[in-house]
Amino acid sequence: APLIGVLALQGDVREHARAIEAAGARAMAVRRRSELDAVDALVLPGGESTTMWKLATAFDLLEPLRLRIKDGLPTYGSCAGMIMLADRIEGGVDGQETLGGIDMVVRRNAFGRQVDSFEADLDFAAKGRVRAVFIRAPWVESIGPDVEVLGRAEPGGRIVAVRQGPLLATSFHPELTGDARVHSYFVEMVREF
Ligand code: GLN
Repeated sequence: APLIGVLALQGDVREHARAIEAAGARAMAVRRRSELDAVDALVLPGGESTTMWKLATAFDLLEPLRLRIKDGLPTYGSCAGMIMLADRIEGGVDGQETLGGIDMVVRRNAFGRQVDSFEADLDFAAKGRVRAVFIRAPWVESIGPDVEVLGRAEPGGRIVAVRQGPLLATSFHPELTGDARVHSYFVEMVREF
């Protein structure tokens, strides 16, 4: 089974590891370069993208992560992880950098203060309806021609799940629902690549 790393600088690492295992792959926490080199794929968990960016810089992981993603490492980013995979962001703090990889603009904290957190059912790719948990979530403001939309939030129809080649991103947190279908979708992608 593929070995999938979970970037463990910050965020809900254990929940992702559990969902990865439920989806039939092996999971491992990634905090250092040697661990990053060992994995077949990577999950960037939710949390806080500004913190993740600063910690990745402090741990000397920012450039190695960029290089592996550029080299085609299958990577799934959830919420703050989606922000990290965006080529461009709106609403970032001064100087905030991402890893990039997906040709899209992502707006941080897009759903606004009144609805900091909410849950909704939505159609995800070919997996059917999933329960989506949004926590101070971003949405995808615009996408390039190579990006496939895998899910939209109702009402409003905002894009909240996308894929570009071996890269997958969702605005929501599937690891909190006990339903491993989004992780299964990712594990199928990893097996493809
Ligand atoms: N608002 C957070 C950010 O900008 C993301 C929230 C989350 O990951 N649940 O990074």
